[in-house]
Amino acid sequence: MRVGVPKEIKNHEYRVGLTPASVAELIAAGHEVFVETKAGTGIDFSDAAYEKVGAKILPTAADVFAQSDMIVKVKEPQPQEIAMLEPRHLLFTYLHLAADKPQAEGLMKSGATCIAYETVTSRSGALPLLKPMSEVAGRMSIQVGAHYLEKEQGGRGVLLGGVPGVAPAKVAILGGGVAGINAAQMATGQRADVTIYDINNDRLAELDMHFGSQIKTAFASKAAIAQAVQEAELVIGAVLVPGAAAPKLVTRDMLKTMKRGSVLVDIAIDQGGCFETSKPTTHADPVYTIDGVIHYCVANMPGAVARTSAFALNNATLPFALKLANLGAEAAMAEDPHLANGLNVSGGKIRHDAVAEALDLA
Ligand code: NAD
Repeated sequence: MRVGVPKEIKNHEYRVGLTPASVAELIAAGHEVFVETKAGTGIDFSDAAYEKVGAKILPTAADVFAQSDMIVKVKEPQPQEIAMLEPRHLLFTYLHLAADKPQAEGLMKSGATCIAYETVTSRSGALPLLKPMSEVAGRMSIQVGAHYLEKEQGGRGVLLGGVPGVAPAKVAILGGGVAGINAAQMATGQRADVTIYDINNDRLAELDMHFGSQIKTAFASKAAIAQAVQEAELVIGAVLVPGAAAPKLVTRDMLKTMKRGSVLVDIAIDQGGCFETSKPTTHADPVYTIDGVIHYCVANMPGAVARTSAFALNNATLPFALKLANLGAEAAMAEDPHLANGLNVSGGKIRHDAVAEALDLA
């Protein structure tokens, strides 16, 4: 198959659909790969690195779309990219269509077959192509939290791990899923005093087994969370209720009880956030302060570590990209029902029940 990789055009997006190593795998499997010039330069994947593994570098996105049957991207297509899609194209990328009717209508009109990373499933019912980004955001949350706890950043002036003779900071992690467990791994690595709160008792038991005495676990009752935020220097919001807005676990009243200079990192901001006072921020201006509490609410945290994120995303997407290229969309989805769950649009119609329902097109 002819596979195309355009340069991402969304603001501050430096990731790229295929790394040179992924391109090499596709070429070894007998496919042709076309990469737009400078597609990876933001994260030090040069045109020469792509050429070295056999890709052809093309000067514009229009050339890439014209030459390719399958387009592999990271972010949802922007209007000028949708305009280049034709019925013969297979698009493989994050789409997040449920809250984006204009994009859904554009993709329907294009006639292209569009498979969304975020609805591909695994045997356990998890979302394997979302997982790497939750891992990145979870790990990053401790790094940014530690940074904003520094006095110079407006924080409380506290070192997460303390030092001999001085107690470590208390870190409360709300939600012990993929992001939460990765946050806990980083926080325990820094010797913070970590408690994970969740409403899933089985999950709490798994976390208890996994971390042993390194962390504490607690059922996420209102009372437990109220006490946690009073005591913690760093609170990480990492809850997810699939398909729904994040529950507001930390209310404005609870915020008033927090220590001045403590930090909230709301990873769940992409689902509306789990603190009542959260509102989305950007990497250019990531924090704001309410009641003396620093809020970090960046909706695309992985973008800050775009090189790591591009590798992590490719590790998860490459097996599916190879299957699609080797078999073609129809046969690949017939063979793999989990990949078939990724199908969002084809033949001018929405093909995913939950997406159609969210868009009121069911
Ligand atoms: P996950 O499904 O693996 O884990 C979510 C956990 O939250 C589960 O263990 C669940 O039991 C728990 N939970 C649900 N309701 C709860 C409640 N009321 N109280 C306590 N715990 C509760 O999800 P994940 O992959 O870890 O993702 C977490 C969030 O991070 C999602 O909203 C995801 O979209 C978001 N995310 C954000 C970024 C970013 O850049 N900001 C990046 C990646 C993921």
